[in-house]
Amino acid sequence: MIEIEQQYTSKTYLLEGLRETLKEIEAHAAASEHDPEGLKKEFQWLKKSGLLAVVLPGEPLDFNFPNMTAMLELLKEVGKANLSVGRIFEGHINTLYLIHLYASPEQRTKWYDGVRDHGHLFGVWNTQAQNGIVFLKNEEQFQIQGSKTFCSGVGIVDRALVTGNIDSEDRKGWQMSIVDMSKIGIDRVDQDSWKPLGMKASRSYTVDFSGYVIDASDFISPPGTYLTQPYFSGGAIRFAAVHLGGAEAVAEHTITYLKELGRTEDPIQRMRIAKIMMQLVSGRLWLEKAGHNYDEWSNTSGESEKLIAFANMTRVSIEDICLQIMDESNKCVGARGLMAPYQLERIFRDLTFYLRQPAPDATRLNVADFFIKQKKTYGFGI
Ligand SMILES: Cc1cc2nc3c(=O)[nH]c(=O)nc-3n(C[C@H](O)[C@H](O)[C@H](O)COP(=O)(O)OP(=O)(O)OC[C@H]3O[C@@H](n4cnc5c(N)ncnc54)[C@H](O)[C@@H]3O)c2cc1C
Repeated sequence: MIEIEQQYTSKTYLLEGLRETLKEIEAHAAASEHDPEGLKKEFQWLKKSGLLAVVLPGEPLDFNFPNMTAMLELLKEVGKANLSVGRIFEGHINTLYLIHLYASPEQRTKWYDGVRDHGHLFGVWNTQAQNGIVFLKNEEQFQIQGSKTFCSGVGIVDRALVTGNIDSEDRKGWQMSIVDMSKIGIDRVDQDSWKPLGMKASRSYTVDFSGYVIDASDFISPPGTYLTQPYFSGGAIRFAAVHLGGAEAVAEHTITYLKELGRTEDPIQRMRIAKIMMQLVSGRLWLEKAGHNYDEWSNTSGESEKLIAFANMTRVSIEDICLQIMDESNKCVGARGLMAPYQLERIFRDLTFYLRQPAPDATRLNVADFFIKQKKTYGFGI
């Protein structure tokens, strides 16, 4: 009981203590989009606030405890301040979670110390195009050949979890590895590869890792582990939380804009505000329940399918919610409200682009499959 109370208190303080940092991040979001240094200062602030280490043993959101609801709330708040910061921060948390789940105790100590003592920022780069990653045996070590696309945070990420194919005597399949980004020169980053509609500040460039020599001690677990369920699909609730933060920012800016223009007495505008807020609250409810379910089911055998189905539903429901909120907001504020220096101009671009995540159609089909296989309509205890 005491432990639960202490954890609750530390989580409450966590968000309260972050308010000023998040305000600062939000205030800089428009300028940071064009900053040649990317989001360097934002991550220095987050490092100073202790947020980079927040999931390590003994910290407020220690992965060894059921903290997913608080984690989703935190991700939503960071996304609300700046979606690109949210994207990179989510990648850092995802990497540390993979390390928590699958790395050896020695590896964990090494990489956790990097975060604690040196403020290392981590990222997961799994997406690739035709010229993807292979690990080639090179005497006692391995050499990487190929590139990754969508490497969010390149330039500020210190250690990247890079996946790729391996085919040696004792390892075959999709291998996780940790790459020291200080050994990858700037000339390996394709500067023409990131010209997106939004999320420019995430600087998710294509990186060529060819020639990087990696020791087997930097491989995490055997090949294939990356795709272990329910963790692989279940993790989608984290990016959904960041997305919802963007939608929350849209809702707040919309109401502020209407107030500024003295348009909140108009019944049609009020109807739209009601729709926006009802959508937003349903998104928060999805997240809250998804967090509770994750905490309850992620370490319980036999609950994997339920967890994945609920995570899939959460992810695509929040996608729909974000799109509907943007649609209503769009009509509320009109063209003038969608022009810089109003923040909505950028947030719309960022959220529209960031909502495009892997396999949205297949995710919906998997939800249908789950219910079709049940003997009677399954209610998730709701
Ligand atoms: C801002 C941002 C940052 C990112 N950062 C990272 C990162 O740090 N690390 C990382 O690993 N990845 C990252 N990604 C990549 C991300 O994980 C996805 O891989 C990517 O967003 C999916 O891109 P897409 O919409 O072009 O996918 P597509 O797979 O091309 O999907 C587009 C549409 O086509 C449909 N479709 C897919 N396959 C088929 C098919 N065979 N036939 C017909 N239709 C099909 C889909 O259902 C969807 O409707 C990032 C993405 C974004 C947007």
